[in-house]
Amino acid sequence: MAQNLDALRLALQHSPDNAPLLVLFADGCLDEGLVEEAEQTFQRVLQNDPAHADARLGLAHVALLQGKTSQAAVRAEQIIADTPACAAAFILLARIHITEGDLPKAKAMYDQGIALNRSLADPGIEKDLHGVKPSEDDGAGRKRAAITSGGSYMESAKDKEDDDDGHPRGGAAFDLGLAEMEKPKLNFAGVGGMEALKEEIRMKIIYPLQHAELFKAYDKKVGGGVLLYGPPGCGKTLISKATAGEIKANFIAIGLHQIIDMWIGNSEKNMHEVFELARRNAPSILFFDEIDALAADRRDLRQSAGRNIINSFLMEMDGSESDNDGVLILGATNAPWHIDSAFRRPGRFDRTLFVPPPDEGGRAAIIEVMAQKKPIAELDPRALAKKTDGFSGADLKAVFDLATEEVLNQAMKTGKVIPLTTKDLIKAAGRHQATTKAWFESAKNYAMYSNQSGFYDDVLKHLGLMKR
Ligand code: ATP
Repeated sequence: MAQNLDALRLALQHSPDNAPLLVLFADGCLDEGLVEEAEQTFQRVLQNDPAHADARLGLAHVALLQGKTSQAAVRAEQIIADTPACAAAFILLARIHITEGDLPKAKAMYDQGIALNRSLADPGIEKDLHGVKPSEDDGAGRKRAAITSGGSYMESAKDKEDDDDGHPRGGAAFDLGLAEMEKPKLNFAGVGGMEALKEEIRMKIIYPLQHAELFKAYDKKVGGGVLLYGPPGCGKTLISKATAGEIKANFIAIGLHQIIDMWIGNSEKNMHEVFELARRNAPSILFFDEIDALAADRRDLRQSAGRNIINSFLMEMDGSESDNDGVLILGATNAPWHIDSAFRRPGRFDRTLFVPPPDEGGRAAIIEVMAQKKPIAELDPRALAKKTDGFSGADLKAVFDLATEEVLNQAMKTGKVIPLTTKDLIKAAGRHQATTKAWFESAKNYAMYSNQSGFYDDVLKHLGLMKR
């Protein structure tokens, strides 16, 4: 396959705008795990032909592989909205719902895809969905955002008029009540490994918040923004929540869906409400997952509908109109290279934390935490950790899920609980591919060639390309 890719690369030098060639090449990149290159290639196709279905589907696939399931779902749903007969989009949506653990919805999507095109039948998916009844919801409940060629979220004509519940747009649709806020019980003890990162968080976040009076005496503000970046599934969300738990602060998580709602709803008002909620409940942590959906460096977007929301976010963050004392804004991203430099100015996301994949000791600790929730006969966390180099926390969770499925199949036959063993887990690990390697391939290029003000030093150190 790598040879084919080389041949395609050569062909593209002669015919750089050839859409079928580009799609073939991008699909090949996906097969080889070159996710970033695939993403760039699909985007090239869309620059010339914004409606190109295969390229749009490709980007949805990329998002799924990057662990951005919400974004993948929104992209796939948009394709279906525009091209209701696109069987492959239904199948991809089924895969996304399986990843999200919503099997009935996955089944509904899969059945629709197969009804449109039987040749897309996928034995792997069928195994996952065996015996599952399809949900009656066709998946349209998810708020849709139109996605334009550059991959940016834009207002769609339909969404401007109504939201999916038929409510007219205008602010009330984005209902952010206290239900969205919690004081997490999770603290650092519930997060396996990550000792160096925990220490960094103590120094950069926890001590300043705990000693706010001391900081005030020196006329220094407490709070501000910290950008967490790293490969998918390595615990950015988990450690953010645990940080709130550690200092008994309120935790308000804003996910991609809410960001998208803000794009298509009454953005400034909603953004203000979110920040006000955090301010009223300080000390609080306001966590923006997949912040690149908001902070991406896309000039076209900044000149259009997106400008308002970006400006209102920056204004709220600067606290020019209100006081953000005691409000810590955490932004998580897998693609820090897409973050606009305006977001990294002093007073905004001026501190960064690299959240790396766990090392062997870290994996052993995560494995111990995960094993607490399962019936285990005997566990050698070190042995499993040795066999899972490059695995993220989410990968390890997938290993536990795979092993559990296997044992459950046997347990169902006997009707008795069969505890998991280290051997079951090691076997399952052999069936799972580490998801962090592709990320480092992209990150390495950025770290080596655009490491302004040492932003990627931690990545270079992790890769052994810079002294610790
Ligand atoms: P993404 O970039 O895809 O949003 P993320 O970096 O925010 O991912 P999380 O969502 O925090 O990653 O982690 C994914 C899952 O992996 C968690 O729900 C948890 O089950 C597991 N996990 C990751 N790291 C750890 C850890 N250190 N200890 C225990 N579980 C972990």
